[in-house]
This record gives sequence, C-alpha cells and structure tokens, in this order.
Amino acid sequence: MMKFIKWLAIIIAVLALMGVLYLKLILGPQTDAEMNAVIQHDPYKISEDAQNFHNTLTVADLHTDTLLWARDPRKRHDYGHVDFPRLAEGNVKLQLFSVVTKSPRGLNFDQNDGTGPDDIALLAKAQFWPPRTWDSVYERAAFQAERLTKLEKQGHVLIARDRLSFEAAINSDKLVTILLTEGSHPLEGDIKNIKRLYDHGYRVMGLQHFFDNELGGSMHGITKAGLTEFGFEAVKHMEDMGIIIDIAHSSEQSVRDAMTVTTAPMILSHGGILSACPKTANRNLPDDVLVEIASRGGLIGIGYFSGVICDINPNGIADAIIYAVDLLGEDHVALGSDFDGTVTTTLDTSELAAITQALMDKGMERRVIAKVMGGNAVRFFGENLPE
Ligand SMILES: [Zn+2]
Repeated sequence: MMKFIKWLAIIIAVLALMGVLYLKLILGPQTDAEMNAVIQHDPYKISEDAQNFHNTLTVADLHTDTLLWARDPRKRHDYGHVDFPRLAEGNVKLQLFSVVTKSPRGLNFDQNDGTGPDDIALLAKAQFWPPRTWDSVYERAAFQAERLTKLEKQGHVLIARDRLSFEAAINSDKLVTILLTEGSHPLEGDIKNIKRLYDHGYRVMGLQHFFDNELGGSMHGITKAGLTEFGFEAVKHMEDMGIIIDIAHSSEQSVRDAMTVTTAPMILSHGGILSACPKTANRNLPDDVLVEIASRGGLIGIGYFSGVICDINPNGIADAIIYAVDLLGEDHVALGSDFDGTVTTTLDTSELAAITQALMDKGMERRVIAKVMGGNAVRFFGENLPE
C-alpha cells in the first residue's frame, strides 16, 4: 500500500511539473513575443531636427496591456512593445495601463459569445498569479493594479489618482501612469465594486471588451445591444465618482445609451476612424459617434494595428492621425497604441519619434503635433480626473 501511495505521489508530481512546463511554454516569452510582435525593419531615419523636437514633447499614450505579461517592465526587452526603459527612449511621459481580465479562446472582431476556455485564467495560473485570481475577473483587475502599485512604491512610476497628484506627477521626472479596465466585467455585476476598483487606483473604465457583459452589448458580441439597466446605473455611478469612461469595444448602441445618461467627456483609448479605412467596420464606430464624443470634450486615441487603421507603417499611422484631426479637431486626437495587446505593429514604444518625423514630413504644424503626441491627453486628464 505504501509503495502504491509513493508511486501515485511521484506520478502526480511529474504530471504537475509537465503541466507547469506546458503552460510556461505556451504562455512564456515565446508566446509573448509572437503575440506582441514588431515587424522587422531597418531603423527608422529620424532627422536631428525631428529628434530634437520629439525630445521637447510631452508624449502620452492611452492604452497598453503590459501588466498582463510576465515580462518585468523595469528591464529592457527585445520582444513585446513596452517596458520602462523603452518608454524613456520614446520620451513617453504619460502611459495609461489597461487591464485585460477575460479572454475567451477564438476571439474575433465579428461575434463572440464569451464562453470559450478563458486564456487569462490559463495565463494567471501559468504566471503564478495568486489563486484568488484564478476564478475571479474582479481579482484579476485588483491583482494587476497591485502590480503597478508595487512598481510605484519602488519609485519607478507615479499613478495619477486626482487632478492635483496628476499635475505634480507631470511636473516630476517620473513616468506618469493611469489605470484603465478593459471592459467592466470585473465589476462582476456588483455596483459596489466600482468603488473597490477606484480604491485600487482605477480612474478610467471601459464598458465592454470582446463579449457582451452585465453592462450591455459589445461591438464584437452576439446581441450588439445597448446598455442594460445595470449598465445605465454603472455609467451614472462612474460619472458621480469622477471615473472617465472608455468607449473602446462597446457596441454603437451602448455608446449612444451612455451618452444619454452622462455629459462627462469620454475617451476612445485605442481605435481609428471608420471612413478612413472602411474595412475596419467590425472594430471602429461610425464617424458621427466619434464626432459627438469629440464635441463633448472627449479624446480619440489612434491605434497602430490593422484592426483599426489601413496602413500600420509610421507613415500610415501619421495619415490616420491627420485624418482624425481633420474630422474631430486638433484638440481631440491622441495616441492609442494598444501596445502589448496581442497586436502586430511596425514599431515599439522606443521608436515613437518615427511618428513625429512622419507628421513633420506630411506638413503638420509643430504646435498640432505637440497636441496629438501628448499635449491633448495631458490637458484632458488634468481637467477630467477627479478633483
Ligand atoms: Zn482592446
């Protein structure tokens, strides 16, 4: 009997080890590098004038999913898109860190029922996140915020929580960050969780991600419906607390519904302009919705991936930005990379001067370049974070 138990223990240990190795293998650095790829290219040619000008800018980006990956953001990596050394090389001052909490297998822009095996559950185990995160999307949001808070305590970043701390942070020599949930399923249907996530540092909340949730319809869900009763209640509650709403991934009707209950300016953290690239109809909202968001003082972040723009090269990104400025006005356009969000790009964050160069080459005035590269975002959060 003892012998049997001993062998059973050995078999279980070997199976567990194989399981961990399997998870490490499929979700480790190789997966990270493949999922967050940069297309190989010669170094972009940046003139001395463009580099000097870029170095004077306050650069800001509205969306990166870096906190999801095991990669240590304190160290420079030659894969993935974002870490602190590369943010410094790109002269980035303000970076929103978005947090993905559920990712059912087989995600696509057209239609997801949200029930497939959840890759974030797998990733949480493979990366040895605490067991409380294994079955709770709320806890995954809490845990990723704790990751950034730890980095703040170590002195690497400042997390902006209100207007005053934001202003002080922008005037410091530190990287300024703001926490953003990618969809509000981390509320787990409980309105009280808005305050709990607020206490974890979240100041921007998306409503949906790739699937319909308790708040209402996603652009990529089954129903394409608007907000539920809970969704309306949540939007009002967020406005009351000074939380900024991110409309990325929400169905057109959800966004229109949200605009009926809040007058607070909203952002689109990562997206593009549909009429600039009609094939992005399953990812970008109709132009008139974005025009309305802009007219309410909102901010539209232009992404660098093929789901939202037609040409992902620096020149194409610049074209998309210029198109957005023409449509929405120079005060309402920002960078919204979606770096580390399982997208393929032509540059990582250390190479952002290539966008400045392309905007200069295309004749955009320097004063407008300064706005879209970060000035607008700094102004927006200075005015719209909680007091
Ligand atoms: Zn996204």
